[in-house]
Amino acid sequence: MRAPDRKITESNLAEAGAILTIDLDVVRANYRLLKQRLGSVRCAGVVKADAYGLGAAEVAQALASEGCDTFFVAHVREGVVLRDVLGPRPEIYVLNGTPPGAETACATAGLTTVVNSLEQLAAWRGTAKVLGRPLPAALQVDSGMSRLGLAPEEVEEIAADKSLLDGIEVRLVMSHLACADEPEHPANAAQKEAFDLLRASLPAVPASLANSSGIFLGADYHYDLARPGAALYGINPTPSRPNPMRPVIHLAAKVIQTRQLPASVGVGYGHSFRTQKPMRAATISLGYADGWHRRAAAGAYFAEVRLPFIGRVSMDSIIIDISALPEGALAAGDLVEIIGPHQPVDVVAGHAGTIGYEVLTDLGHRFHRIYKHA
Ligand SMILES: *Cc1c(COP(=O)(O)O)cnc(C)c1O
Repeated sequence: MRAPDRKITESNLAEAGAILTIDLDVVRANYRLLKQRLGSVRCAGVVKADAYGLGAAEVAQALASEGCDTFFVAHVREGVVLRDVLGPRPEIYVLNGTPPGAETACATAGLTTVVNSLEQLAAWRGTAKVLGRPLPAALQVDSGMSRLGLAPEEVEEIAADKSLLDGIEVRLVMSHLACADEPEHPANAAQKEAFDLLRASLPAVPASLANSSGIFLGADYHYDLARPGAALYGINPTPSRPNPMRPVIHLAAKVIQTRQLPASVGVGYGHSFRTQKPMRAATISLGYADGWHRRAAAGAYFAEVRLPFIGRVSMDSIIIDISALPEGALAAGDLVEIIGPHQPVDVVAGHAGTIGYEVLTDLGHRFHRIYKHA
């Protein structure tokens, strides 16, 4: 039996309600695993949304130490902050492109904008002219997701009038897959075919199509650069098969108090749970304000024993049934596992009716965070 997390002693830990441990060595190991699958194809790191809630600075530095030199964020501001962290060398792409008016900030930080529309292209061209130097860009084409990227007609316009790329140093042609986590979905092959067609009309530069799941669709989808996010953070990129990635995070919540409950009492808001018989309960320091979805019925784990949530999730606390544990086994200050080996991120997501991505990006800001690295 695995030793349960016991009481913690250091004072900052003593103040914490819940503790989020992020294992950067595992992020690195996951990066290496993806690189292995990619062979000679380059592997970027997608660290948008604060590296899916895990901390963009810490994660990006860990990836950089593994040799990663290309990063993707979603917003200009994320890129500006990341540039400060990583220094001048790594390439930082901004997936949403540059909103009108933010071009100079984007260029000054040495970011590579992802051009999604002719408007973004014109603005970036204008900025290059004003600054008097070429500016780097990726051209994103819409190969069938209908979310971001140049439409086929717009690609034709660029192909017909090369001056539209004046002052633009095209570094990458990219697109994004809508259904990569469903390997049998016909949209995958259709998007690949559309991507190849669109690419042929654009400058002959490196190409990128695969996100995490795309890497597992096979070498045909790898092109020159892969763009994994989720898989680096332990989310299963192959939902219909066992998870090839290792879990990165562990979340433990502290017991605030324990109590004996008689039969026939209501528990929590709305009394949505009523005791049938006498039971023992603990209240733990975790709630929807910590990003734990209110609808996510689940359990906590202590010493291999599952302790079901009872009653509604409150803002700052959850009540759990600890009757399955020996009396006195759990006391105030003890930690119970919320996300970890017994209940991985993807399982938590299932309980909440969502996906692992959302569980991670919702992770709360008042957790005490511990970054593990060698
Ligand atoms: C978020 C994103 C990625 C990373 O996707 P994962 O599924 O997390 O690997 C790659 N490319 C684009 C365009 C994205 O928006």
